[in-house]
Amino acid sequence: MTPEFFVYYLPLPATVHGSVRLNDDGTYSVYLNSLDTAEEWRRTIEHELRHIEAGHLYSDKPVWKLELEADGVELPEPEATAPKIYSSLEDLRENFI
Ligand SMILES: [Zn+2]
Repeated sequence: MTPEFFVYYLPLPATVHGSVRLNDDGTYSVYLNSLDTAEEWRRTIEHELRHIEAGHLYSDKPVWKLELEADGVELPEPEATAPKIYSSLEDLRENFI
């Protein structure tokens, strides 16, 4: 059997269930929170596999979008809107809504 996935169990912060990494040799390392339950590990593995299947490890999309996609959330296309522009930190602090 040629290994393709390496699954590690590590104690992670309670809000972090796992992560996936593409290794230099093309294999994947999946990290699971050792403090989670077996059911949470199963859900986390599915989530991480969706990242792989969707090509997220090669994507330059924002991480929050990738996470929603991996959770199966359908995102509507945002309407093109012009950004609000600020000239400095002070300008942003003083004029942000
Ligand atoms: Zn994720």
